Amino acid sequence: APSSVRISHSQNVPVADDSEEQFAITEQVLAQALRERQFTVFYQPKLCCTTGHLVGLECLARWQHPTQGMLFPDRFIPLAEGSGLIAQLTEQIFVQALEWFAAHCHGQNLQIALNLSAKTLSSPEFPDWVAQQCTRLGVAPQQVVLEVTETSSMENPVATLQILTQFRIKGFSLSIDDFGIGYSSLIQLARLPFSELKIDKMFVISAPYSEESQKIVSAVISLGRALNLSVTAEGVEDAWTLQYLKDAGCDYAQGFLFSRPVDGEAFLAWKHSREPT
Ligand code: C2E
Ligand code: CA
Ligand code: CA
Ligand code: CA
Repeated sequence: APSSVRISHSQNVPVADDSEEQFAITEQVLAQALRERQFTVFYQPKLCCTTGHLVGLECLARWQHPTQGMLFPDRFIPLAEGSGLIAQLTEQIFVQALEWFAAHCHGQNLQIALNLSAKTLSSPEFPDWVAQQCTRLGVAPQQVVLEVTETSSMENPVATLQILTQFRIKGFSLSIDDFGIGYSSLIQLARLPFSELKIDKMFVISAPYSEESQKIVSAVISLGRALNLSVTAEGVEDAWTLQYLKDAGCDYAQGFLFSRPVDGEAFLAWKHSREPT
């Protein structure tokens, strides 16, 4: 889908009729939203498939637009990537998420996962910046997972290897996101210093209805084990899928079965409600 959308005829007026006209997101609109700090972070739990214990959370960007309501990353991440605003957006998301994590999950055995954009994979000063933020907040790099999509890690393999190695040396964990849809060379992937593989949710969501998806899920789990990677399935929406994943040897799961991504307060309430009393 195109990232930048159709031109609205009425820039400042929310569309009130039932036409499908969408709010036009331009670079200027995005830049202003960054200045006004309209971006926030939602959190989704990650659980151990076998014990059901909470092991961490993934941070997902949301845009709280004053008139449009909440906008999802598919509406603004591709445009930010294409316009040079992604660095600023990444910075705001990382700082908010790490500050929240330091304030509310300190001293707990949890990991925080953040999504890296393709652009930051060619920014040599980025690993230092992330490490500085962690030091400032007292978050150990061992608690931080950086998720890189299979596709973006292949865009510029040389620079990517350099940046990912920097993160690894500093003690961060790295995860291959959306695995299975990128057609990348397995040997190239295996050479990158990842410690986790995330099966793309497309295969996981369709597993209950598609034998083909089930086979792909099982094969990816086996591949992950063979490469010594832990395996996370995202998009776990029902109990059947969770059982299937357990039986196939998957390590971790994320999905609406447990919780949608929610704001910090709702995440803490969800977490609290599951703690033994
Ligand atoms: P992703 O990293 O693959 O994140 C998982 C997406 O799957 C999230 O969509 C999440 O809400 C959704 N999801 C989780 N569990 C389920 C489920 O059980 N069923 C279904 N149908 N969906 C589920 P979201 O939040 O809309 O994010 C979309 C994508 O935007 C992310 O995909 C990620 O690639 C990107 N993104 C999000 N936040 C950031 C960010 O801070 N920086 C960058 N660079 N990209 C981000
Ligand atoms: Ca992700
Ligand atoms: Ca993913
Ligand atoms: Ca995705």
